[in-house]
Amino acid sequence: MTVSDASTFPRHQSLPSREHYPLVIIGSGAGGVSAARSYLDAAGPGPVLMVTEDIDPPYERPPLSKEVLSGEKEPTGDPVNGEGLPDGVELLLASSISAVDIEKQTVAAKSWSVEFDRLIVATGARSKSLHAAQEGAEIHLLRSLDDARTLVASARTAYTALVIGSGFIGCEAAASLAQRGLNVALVTPENGPQEQRLGAAASSRIKDWLEAVGVEVRTGRSVKSVAAPRVVQLDDGTSLNPDLILAAVGVTPGGTLLDNSPAEVRGGRIMTDQHLKAHATVWVAGDSALAQHGVAGRPIMVEHWGDALAMGEIAGHNAAVEQNAQKSWDSIPGFWSIIGDHTLKYSAWGDGFSTAEFRERPDGFVVWYGDERGELVGVLTYNSDDDYERGQHLLEQRAPLSHALK
Ligand SMILES: Cc1cc2nc3c(=O)[nH]c(=O)nc-3n(C[C@H](O)[C@H](O)[C@H](O)COP(=O)(O)OP(=O)(O)OC[C@H]3O[C@@H](n4cnc5c(N)ncnc54)[C@H](O)[C@@H]3O)c2cc1C
Repeated sequence: MTVSDASTFPRHQSLPSREHYPLVIIGSGAGGVSAARSYLDAAGPGPVLMVTEDIDPPYERPPLSKEVLSGEKEPTGDPVNGEGLPDGVELLLASSISAVDIEKQTVAAKSWSVEFDRLIVATGARSKSLHAAQEGAEIHLLRSLDDARTLVASARTAYTALVIGSGFIGCEAAASLAQRGLNVALVTPENGPQEQRLGAAASSRIKDWLEAVGVEVRTGRSVKSVAAPRVVQLDDGTSLNPDLILAAVGVTPGGTLLDNSPAEVRGGRIMTDQHLKAHATVWVAGDSALAQHGVAGRPIMVEHWGDALAMGEIAGHNAAVEQNAQKSWDSIPGFWSIIGDHTLKYSAWGDGFSTAEFRERPDGFVVWYGDERGELVGVLTYNSDDDYERGQHLLEQRAPLSHALK
């Protein structure tokens, strides 16, 4: 089944069918879809209105930078966890919510507005565009299935590609484009791919993997300008003229929709309590949240598919049930990244580290991360699942880094 198989999804509309909904969900990503399912599973009253800027029915994002870009999969979209939306959800595609009034309990798009009893914000994040781009420069971004379709169409006729940025998406995309057969260069201001996030030792492995599939990795270099159509100037004076450019330079979280509302928004993310509640009738799930975590004991932000699903499950449930049946967000955040044929597993609170301890394993490695107080704050593994499971267990216990190193 693919998302283009429209018969498996509720009818998509262009306008809401009512003026008032028991629940409105903004966003059709992992957080929004999972929230809709758990809300209805918990017998929340319908119908539910789901509004999304996406032009496609809900699909999984992680394959877009992997199998879809490498050519293993067509850019048709896999339904989220293999299933469509449940009955009782009205889906409005290609619709942008421009205003939310929490007190009046209304959401508005350009040509309509509706009232809600409860609201779930799952607006995720948007790809940042490249500041150095001049007018008319042809630069791809990669967030949506539609972005992936356009990128794949360009990749089909391209021989050379430049990926700008060495976060997870930049690294995955560079490896996938190389596997598709393109000559790929990756440019990053970091000293090594993902060095800031994962430390020097892991970064050096990732660089090796990228180079092994043919990616030319240019570290410590920034893009000064990109002129139309694709003339790239680097800060070392080099000029490049690739057939395709992908900018993977980070994201802007989508919580700003609640700016100037009674909910607190910090750095584009909406603050919530442990129940993912931001206000009396508003819950938040996924990348747009800065949510109090039951185990971490502080607000954390995650940008992971599995965690957005988990948060959506909690937000949807809590929006449906009474106060005394609320669930807390306390699962340990983590995600997998596939760079070429290498799967990295990473679990961390996500707010940085001060020490990184790298250990070789028979077929892989583990990196343990500690903070300045000596607490374990993350684990990264390659071919070492026992360490990953142990790491998650130790994170759950808020164990010291020294326990992990035993
Ligand atoms: C290419 C790619 C690969 C990835 N790979 C991995 C991976 O391997 N592992 C992993 O853990 N994570 C991965 N991620 C990250 C993961 O996809 C995100 O963390 C996850 O999608 C977040 O879910 P979300 O529901 O919060 O937001 P999103 O999935 O971004 O969904 C946000 C939704 O809100 C809608 N929206 C936003 N603003 C408005 C508005 N004003 N009005 C109406 N609708 C709006 C958008 O259209 C979209 O439907 C990847 C991301 C990308 C882009």
